Amino acid sequence: MSELFIAEPNSLVLRDSAPLESLRANEVKIRVTYGGICGSDLSVYRGKIQHATYPVRPGHELVGVVEESGSVANIPEGTRVVVTPNTFCGECEYCLREQENICPHKKSIGINADGGFSHEFSIDARYVIPIPDEVSDEKAVLIEPLAVIVHGLKKLNLRKGDSVLVIGCGTEGLLTVALADYLGADVTAVDINEEKLKMLESFPHIQATHPDAIDPDTFDYVVEAAGTPQSVQSCFRWLKQGDLCF
Ligand SMILES: [Zn+2]
Ligand SMILES: [Zn+2]
Repeated sequence: MSELFIAEPNSLVLRDSAPLESLRANEVKIRVTYGGICGSDLSVYRGKIQHATYPVRPGHELVGVVEESGSVANIPEGTRVVVTPNTFCGECEYCLREQENICPHKKSIGINADGGFSHEFSIDARYVIPIPDEVSDEKAVLIEPLAVIVHGLKKLNLRKGDSVLVIGCGTEGLLTVALADYLGADVTAVDINEEKLKMLESFPHIQATHPDAIDPDTFDYVVEAAGTPQSVQSCFRWLKQGDLCF
């Protein structure tokens, strides 16, 4: 059994994993089958996330199988699952209004709590979500990044035919393109990287282009998925008057 660790910024170590501590009643042990590498894993590695703590085991986009279930965990062994990446206290004002994602007491696995780039790990069962049989592991590994987009697009209340510009065609950008298109929006995607734009060639109804080709004041909604200061600044000029971006 081995695990990946970031000992300190720019120092990645593959090492034998210590045996897991005995399982608490509320925990499950998960055998990892798939893990996605997120931009934030790279930022932790490069020392660019202020609240990261070291050493830390990266990995929060995880799919696995429950191998052992604590006495009150209530998730049968053999269940295929994904995990939520942030812990929460369950008691503060945010948790009480179902905004656990912004709980001030949260820990983020892979950043300031150990993540799942390991053969197996244990976690409180309340952070574990079973997945249906028809969703493959390869697709399930995208559930966590897709949840980010579902959360964002819900706020926009998209209507069929709304024009949406997606800036950046990384994982989050492409998932935004797919979901906004599925919801009936008229989607345009931009990136400065030609190779990323090429990934959209098999979707001819999506306009995929370089940012320079976009006219100002054109879109009902702009989704910023590149994460650079320049793209955050430029997204406002592509919005129609009075509309929204996130
Ligand atoms: Zn992620
Ligand atoms: Zn809380």
